[in-house]
Amino acid sequence: MRRRLFAANWKMHHGPGAARSFLGTFLEQYARRTDRDVWFFPPAISFTTVLDLVRGRPDLGAGVQNVHWEPKGAFTGEISVPMLVEAGANGAIVGHSERRHGFGETDEESGNKARALLAAGLVPVFCVGEKLEEREAGETWAVVRRQLNVLDGLPTRQLAQLVVAYEPVWAIGTGRNATPADAAEVHRSIRGWFEKQGVNPDDVTVPYGGSVNLRNGADLLAEPEIDGVLVGGASLDPTGWAQLISLR
Ligand code: PEP
Repeated sequence: MRRRLFAANWKMHHGPGAARSFLGTFLEQYARRTDRDVWFFPPAISFTTVLDLVRGRPDLGAGVQNVHWEPKGAFTGEISVPMLVEAGANGAIVGHSERRHGFGETDEESGNKARALLAAGLVPVFCVGEKLEEREAGETWAVVRRQLNVLDGLPTRQLAQLVVAYEPVWAIGTGRNATPADAAEVHRSIRGWFEKQGVNPDDVTVPYGGSVNLRNGADLLAEPEIDGVLVGGASLDPTGWAQLISLR
């Protein structure tokens, strides 16, 4: 059975004090479950606070929301992969739609970030997904395939370490989620892309993201193609998050 990943993307919420208070409540309410991992992606300034608090719980992990592909240099405002390794991160979110469409991150840049993380043995949570007009034009798979193609040619042992989060752009932060069946169709195609690269499709973790909450989470997680969830808004409250990651 594929392992499940529940990932909390806090976006620009929860500084170090709020992160400490969140974890205090959360850890009281969520006991380890061996069939799933729970990773937090706080703002970079709160990362070490979170990591210190989850240390000792093998099911919990932490990463950052963005990373640069160069190991060091004059890149004001950026964080490098060697810094993440030194700090003990599990990985980083790469290619989130807010980075792609809000900050102009290109497919190629997302690919460079994923390659740098994989080369260092960290896990990219690599986000792919189409905009509403692309879905309506029947271009969903063409867009997702184009976003994946920047990973073409990576060694299979590295590709198998990837987490690919299918996050339709029109579903993120909008309250409108993909149906389990719609998501499953894309998840199957994503696994097919990996199979063509020579990777066992069951080695690749493919969570869904986009307005997941306590109301729709159980139905989405009941879909066998969905290996967990990447959650923004509904991951900000410790009690709600502990309940959401306990579904199914
Ligand atoms: C996200 O930030 O990746 C996300 C899915 O956000 P939300 O759950 O708020 O839609």
